[in-house]
Amino acid sequence: MLHRILPVGPLQCNCSIIGDEQTREAMVIDPGDQIEDILRILQEEKLQLKQIVVTHAHIDHVGGAMKLKAATGAPILMNQADYALLKMLDMQAAWVGMKPPGAVQVDEGIADGSVLQIGNVAGNVIHTPGHTEGSICLHFPQEKKLIAGDTLFAGSIGRTDLPGGSLEKILRSLHTRVLALPDDIQVTPGHGPQTTIGEERETNPFLQE
Ligand SMILES: [Zn+2]
Repeated sequence: MLHRILPVGPLQCNCSIIGDEQTREAMVIDPGDQIEDILRILQEEKLQLKQIVVTHAHIDHVGGAMKLKAATGAPILMNQADYALLKMLDMQAAWVGMKPPGAVQVDEGIADGSVLQIGNVAGNVIHTPGHTEGSICLHFPQEKKLIAGDTLFAGSIGRTDLPGGSLEKILRSLHTRVLALPDDIQVTPGHGPQTTIGEERETNPFLQE
């Protein structure tokens, strides 16, 4: 599996470009901004985009989704519980001082247990409410990788003080779902450096009992 990580936009959201090396099919996760750069990587790697996956409906993760869809024809996939947040993109833009990206239309809802397939690469959707109600993580068991969105960071966890956030829910998601994964899973958080489940289990101050 090919995995390129590109921090995009003023908040440096980690956009993941994931491809199957054999079929050259690809998915892009969290195209918040810098769509030209994402398109250039797809072209460089000779990848055909099949899916645009959004871990949650915050503007820094979803802001460029419609532009990427217009350029490639790939459908946008997101959990339904974040549809309400998606209707508030103009307000979110004002909060962070970004230009409103316009309306985003989701093509397909993804839920806990959904399997996203590109070529021979399969990612399992784990619904992890807390940062937002519709937050998801994407687990690639064969590759031992987790795309964590803003649920888990190296040494920290996602904020829960924005609309739809819940500290109780994010802690439950982390303890019952994310920490249920093996220690050797490599984690790509929504912002900042890479980590592993084992590292966070041992040292993340928010995950200690
Ligand atoms: Zn967020």
